[in-house]
Amino acid sequence: MVIDMNDYDEENVFSKILKKEIRCNKVDENNNNLSFEDISKQAPVHVLTIPKKNYKDFSDFAENASDSELSSFLKSISKVANKKGISKTGYRIIINCGPDSNQEVQHLHAHILGGKNLGPILK
Ligand code: AMP
Repeated sequence: MVIDMNDYDEENVFSKILKKEIRCNKVDENNNNLSFEDISKQAPVHVLTIPKKNYKDFSDFAENASDSELSSFLKSISKVANKKGISKTGYRIIINCGPDSNQEVQHLHAHILGGKNLGPILK
């Protein structure tokens, strides 16, 4: 399978975090993924999990990542929830994808939110 990386913007902020040009507050890391605190928390727990390979959004990832990358991403999210102590109290996973979602950073990321009752899914 040929992965078309042409429209991936190497200058996005998460690419810079992966290249260690910008610091992050790391929560978890393995060969495939990096998880770190969101810089602008929307809940007591707000962590972002990103794949280390360059996928611009969820659709790109779902269509082009290997099965092991896909499963590893989910397991990393679950591990973050365990590490942050929100597995039992519950949490929300949000992945914005594309313009209508208002995805700001053009590198796939899952928001992991919890630490309080989050209310309805959309305000
Ligand atoms: P989205 O709107 O889904 O693209 O979310 C982008 C998220 O990235 C927002 O919640 C920002 O607060 C977060 N963010 C932007 N820059 C940084 C950074 N340098 N470190 C951590 N989180 C960041």
